[in-house]
Amino acid sequence: MKKKLIFARKCDWCNREITLNGKDSDSYVVTAENRYFCLTQTPGKPAERDCMADYLNHTKQKLYEHTFKKKLEKKEKEQKEEEKEKKIKSMPRVLAKLDAFQKELKDRKWKERLSKHPS
Ligand SMILES: [Zn+2]
Repeated sequence: MKKKLIFARKCDWCNREITLNGKDSDSYVVTAENRYFCLTQTPGKPAERDCMADYLNHTKQKLYEHTFKKKLEKKEKEQKEEEKEKKIKSMPRVLAKLDAFQKELKDRKWKERLSKHPS
């Protein structure tokens, strides 16, 4: 008796074994990335089991979370940079004030000297 070769693969989502051929074969879908998913669906009705949809939803969710996290990190980083920039920007102002103050002192001394020694 020749043994019929039955191929099986585990579903990439629920890990259930999918019989790929033979009379007891399960219905399944294969993606372009060579992933196998079980698909239980009566034609004309919504799928009872659609592991590819679940997988895709999960991936999308993950991707969304990932993007969201990245965005948040980026925002935090930008905020920090902004604060840093603000500090740097406020520095010359302080220096300018100090400069003006020193100039004023000098002027005052000069005027005092002038008033003490009128020519
Ligand atoms: Zn599955």
